[in-house]
Amino acid sequence: MKDRPHSGAPFADPTSIARPSDDERFMRQALEEGRLAGDHGDVPIGAAIVRDGTVVARAGNRREVDADPTAHAEVLAIREAARVLGRWRLSDSALYVTVEPCAMCTGAAVLARVALVVFGAPDEKAGAVRSVAELLDATWMNHHPRWRYYAPAREEVERLLSEFFSTQRKNRSAD
Ligand SMILES: [Zn+2]
Repeated sequence: MKDRPHSGAPFADPTSIARPSDDERFMRQALEEGRLAGDHGDVPIGAAIVRDGTVVARAGNRREVDADPTAHAEVLAIREAARVLGRWRLSDSALYVTVEPCAMCTGAAVLARVALVVFGAPDEKAGAVRSVAELLDATWMNHHPRWRYYAPAREEVERLLSEFFSTQRKNRSAD
């Protein structure tokens, strides 16, 4: 993960949306969705959309169970929040996700005008917030969600992933 300053404001956010002191509570809900995703054989990544201190939508990764390459937790949570709120513009909402979003999900957060993105672990291979790309800070983007990395969740997020992959490997070798 690159450690360089960027044009956004990673550790400040509009206090009406989600304060850093809320991160633990909302990341828990995203983690819970990640666990549920693992239960149906999907890579255990979960997301939650928060508005006014309340979770309005939650979703886990469903790529395998839906056979849908775009069924990432963030996209599903954004769609659900838009449905619940009756509008596509989520400029008063924050996206919590256990793992740093990929390029598609970062793009979806921009399209939805999400105000803030909070992730619990970097993704060195595909993370498009700061690991392999810095899309939220790209000057050509028409909207710049603020973002922050909630490092206290990292250990639990990575444990969930590594347990999932080791179970997958065991199941495969048992075939
Ligand atoms: Zn994604």
